[in-house]
Amino acid sequence: MTTHHVDVLVVGAGPTGLTAAGDLARTGRSVTVLERWPTINPSSRAFATQARTLEVLDARGVAEDLLARSHRAPGVTIFGGARIDLTHLDSPYQFAMITPQTNVDRALAEYAAAGGADIRRGVEVIGLNQDPDGVTVIVRRHGDEAGMHTRWRAKYLIGADGAHSAVREFVGADFPGRTILSSIVLADVKVAHGPAGRGLTLGNTRNEFAFLAPYDDRDANGSWYRAMVWDRNNQQPDHVPVEQDEIGSILARAIDPDPGLLEVGWKSRFHCDERQVTQYRHGRVFLAGDAAHVHSPMGGQGMNTGIQDAANLAWKIDAVLAGADDAVLDTYHDERHPIGKRVLLQSGLMARGIRLRQPVARAMRNLLAPGLLRIPRVRDAIAGSFAGTALRYPHRKGESPLVGTRATQIPLRHGRLTELQRLPGFVFILERGAPPLDAIGLPQVERTDDGPAVLVRPDGYIAWAGASASPIAGAEALAWWTGRELACLAR
Ligand SMILES: Cc1cc2nc3c(=O)[nH]c(=O)nc-3n(C[C@H](O)[C@H](O)[C@H](O)COP(=O)(O)OP(=O)(O)OC[C@H]3O[C@@H](n4cnc5c(N)ncnc54)[C@H](O)[C@@H]3O)c2cc1C
Repeated sequence: MTTHHVDVLVVGAGPTGLTAAGDLARTGRSVTVLERWPTINPSSRAFATQARTLEVLDARGVAEDLLARSHRAPGVTIFGGARIDLTHLDSPYQFAMITPQTNVDRALAEYAAAGGADIRRGVEVIGLNQDPDGVTVIVRRHGDEAGMHTRWRAKYLIGADGAHSAVREFVGADFPGRTILSSIVLADVKVAHGPAGRGLTLGNTRNEFAFLAPYDDRDANGSWYRAMVWDRNNQQPDHVPVEQDEIGSILARAIDPDPGLLEVGWKSRFHCDERQVTQYRHGRVFLAGDAAHVHSPMGGQGMNTGIQDAANLAWKIDAVLAGADDAVLDTYHDERHPIGKRVLLQSGLMARGIRLRQPVARAMRNLLAPGLLRIPRVRDAIAGSFAGTALRYPHRKGESPLVGTRATQIPLRHGRLTELQRLPGFVFILERGAPPLDAIGLPQVERTDDGPAVLVRPDGYIAWAGASASPIAGAEALAWWTGRELACLAR
């Protein structure tokens, strides 16, 4: 059997795997993506790309094109008229981008291929073994006779193969949790009277809910939306076909006034689980995206969290391949597992809030939620968490509290950070008016506000903050994350 060798293997060409592959490829690593589907996955599940993900996409040069073809939703109307208002987000993107997931997948596939990633479609990983030096997988090509397999070997492997991850099974990772919603119908619908306003709209009664996200696609008869509908009294297994009437009647009951269903395009029925693996790292194998966590689609978090898992992991694998300590790879679990847990909690609360049946509980919810979401601090905390801009990583004792926060919003003398980050690597941001450091080996840029100097990680989070005049400004942090010489940042 032929054995192919690469630095990193990625299993799964969804948004998570493609982001990781693109990030590794642009650092010069050889990376191959093994994807079971012969084409881009046609089932377009996610439709909302949040602000933090847009920043990540901008740092890869793919946000602008996507935005040009997408709707911008400034908020989400939830129960009792309460609204998650995104227009105050601390981000250049004060909205959620509404576009089918296939568009995001396609843009990321182009990004990965442009960097040099080798994307192999129509191949399924059917076996995996790891040893102290690497990971070996057995791959079956679609349509090949049984027994005609190939072998791939890599230093590291990223299991980004979705909710039913085979990699997760191969490494024996547990996936505790349970089903929280069944018989949810997802469809592209054309309605005569879409909800007023430009945001995402949720309508719900004791027994059903309907969620509409507008695409910017309308004609004289009506407009197209992505719809998600659920009826407590019509619970069917996933394989039962979806009827147009089923969607139309739930929309009519849950949304006031009745949007008036005209046409249904793509449609699907599914159930959703709430689960998270206890360990994201298994030796040389890492689980990311839906392979590591699944949850309610409420809040539109899954694809966003997967892309951000990948952005956190890829540069660390590159750093360790370049000589950094293996402990750098443990920080992937340490930083991303708590975020995944929070996403499960947040989307679960939203799903349970929507499903409330007791009239008193529903009345309380409808009374409290709108008022709470009008308090600016609550509004900004919830919107920031929902959009991913308020999420941060922990900092160690003795480090500046800025460590672990994102640097994206620091105003710079020239350009913006996400533009500088289209070239991979760390960036050093100097205080306003501070002279550049000598022989630093990193791009340097001056900030225009009064903040300290900061060393920014390749994923846009702060690794160190302090005075650039200090003799070892940022050098210890850089040495730890990259294995590079301590002295390299000295003046
Ligand atoms: C109804 C619905 C609505 C949603 N809405 C949103 C939303 O608005 N916003 C949001 O952020 N998220 C949303 N999500 C979640 C989002 O779709 C997922 O979180 C996202 O697709 C996960 O990306 P991934 O790359 O981790 O996995 P996937 O997209 O599932 O990709 C995994 C890939 O691995 C491949 N694969 C699997 N096994 C193998 C194997 N053995 N060998 C080779 N390849 C393999 C699969 O073919 C697949 O292409 C929604 C989900 C649903 C169901």
